[in-house]
Amino acid sequence: MPAIVGGFKVTARHLFRSLFGGKTVTMEYPEQKWAVPPEYRGAPYLVRDQDGNTKCVSCQLCEFVCPPKAIKIIPPGPAGPPADRPNAEKIPLEFEINMLRCIFCGFCQEVCPEEAIFLLKDYSLTGLSRDEMIYNKEKLLALGGEHGGIQKWKHKLAEAKAQKDFPVNV
Ligand code: SF4
Ligand code: SF4
Repeated sequence: MPAIVGGFKVTARHLFRSLFGGKTVTMEYPEQKWAVPPEYRGAPYLVRDQDGNTKCVSCQLCEFVCPPKAIKIIPPGPAGPPADRPNAEKIPLEFEINMLRCIFCGFCQEVCPEEAIFLLKDYSLTGLSRDEMIYNKEKLLALGGEHGGIQKWKHKLAEAKAQKDFPVNV
């Protein structure tokens, strides 16, 4: 009984605040969306470069590190289609992420040498079947959008150059 009364008190307090103080604690979802913090990590998607080419080179590192094994990549193989950009040997024939398994941990983004996969701010993933929640390459690329050139190795190179015992001549 005390818990029920306590619950009603909270409801009454918020009702009073929203009626007379203009402060609401609810929102009209899905018309209104939650504004996520800048560091929020949502669903992982594949991205294209500034020329619209696939950045992923099908190295399968992300598939290897993914804790719940949510990623499945089919490499092109020797007879598969060539990469659609210079400086890339291959692109994946198929790339799937099972969003029902994904835990949004970010390991795939961390490990990707091509900065081809990013956790974006999307937290609202819905589907009417399990199959719908397996996102294929085209869907992942469409949702991911475009990201520019590779930046992560610039920092690594600067760090390596700063080590006097491990000089790098580039
Ligand atoms: S965010 Fe984590 S769980 Fe999701 S696909 Fe990437 S590595 Fe796997
Ligand atoms: S997304 Fe990155 S880590 Fe995963 S296969 Fe493509 S290039 Fe490799």
